[in-house]
Amino acid sequence: MNVAFLGLGAIGLPMARHVASHFTLTTWNRTQSKATAFAQQHGARAAATPREAVQGADVVITCLPTSKEVEGLLDGADGLLAGLKDGATLVDCTSGDPTTSQRIAARLASSTQRFIDAPVSGGVSGAEQGTLTIMCGGEEADLTRVRPVLETFGKKIVLCGAVGAGHAVKAVNQALLGVHLYAASEGLAALVKAGVSPTLALEVINASSGRCNATENLIPQRVLTRAFPRTFRLALLEKDLGIAAAFARTQGVSAPVLQLTTELYRAARRELGEEADHVEIAKVIERTSGTEIRG
Ligand code: NDP
Repeated sequence: MNVAFLGLGAIGLPMARHVASHFTLTTWNRTQSKATAFAQQHGARAAATPREAVQGADVVITCLPTSKEVEGLLDGADGLLAGLKDGATLVDCTSGDPTTSQRIAARLASSTQRFIDAPVSGGVSGAEQGTLTIMCGGEEADLTRVRPVLETFGKKIVLCGAVGAGHAVKAVNQALLGVHLYAASEGLAALVKAGVSPTLALEVINASSGRCNATENLIPQRVLTRAFPRTFRLALLEKDLGIAAAFARTQGVSAPVLQLTTELYRAARRELGEEADHVEIAKVIERTSGTEIRG
């Protein structure tokens, strides 16, 4: 199978690296120098436009910030649709929104071209190790066809339902990450102010019912150490929370916690900037509470 990969960002790049080691790969990236450097390093081809990238590809993977950017690649003389061949499957690994994906799928469904939403979880380290969880929306036969490509970077690959279902599950997962990270940081800030060691508090919580990825991994490894590595932008988590809140509303669930958390992350993004990492949300809580969660 020939594969095209569009979007060599923080997580797209290590995913594309795994694809390149098993399939003939053509890449495209908005900043072309990244695609050229990738091609030289990993024996792939770098295309100048989305149209050129997807020509001849059986599987086209996109991994962009939001569904809006994916939709933005489709049209025009250099657009993806101008080059997509009959029988090709577009696999969108963006953490996108269900409604836009359904619209994109409907545009492809007029021919033999197919669409699967396939957002990933597991972070940059999971992408590097090829152990991502991939939650898919689409037809089973389409997933079966592209599964060998997804298996190069994914360990658990689950069909969640029709087109959009993968994005919906991903948004809910991300919303939980956002809520947990915020609430754990608030609670730890209060404990520090009360004179409790955050290291000890986490030891207790992680042996108790409140434990989560934020308490087990993110806060000990990134906040207590003050490392704050930039692996997943806070702006992207804000986007995911917004998708989850909107998705809940479309299902008739008012979801006040998801709405409030979206607004808290939006305010934090305005304060910290577009490039801040999601774990840097703890810095906002530290600033407003006048303390540091330091190990
Ligand atoms: P980055 O911000 O690191 O990279 C974004 C990519 O999209 C870059 O290749 C960028 O190109 C490209 N891009 C941005 N705007 C446009 C545009 N208007 N047109 C075309 N290309 C564009 O994001 P990530 O790689 O971190 O995330 C990608 C997706 O994966 C997001 O939906 C995110 O939520 C999701 N995700 C990320 C995880 C992570 O740990 N990072 C974990 C799980 C999911 P350029 O190089 O020119 O800037």
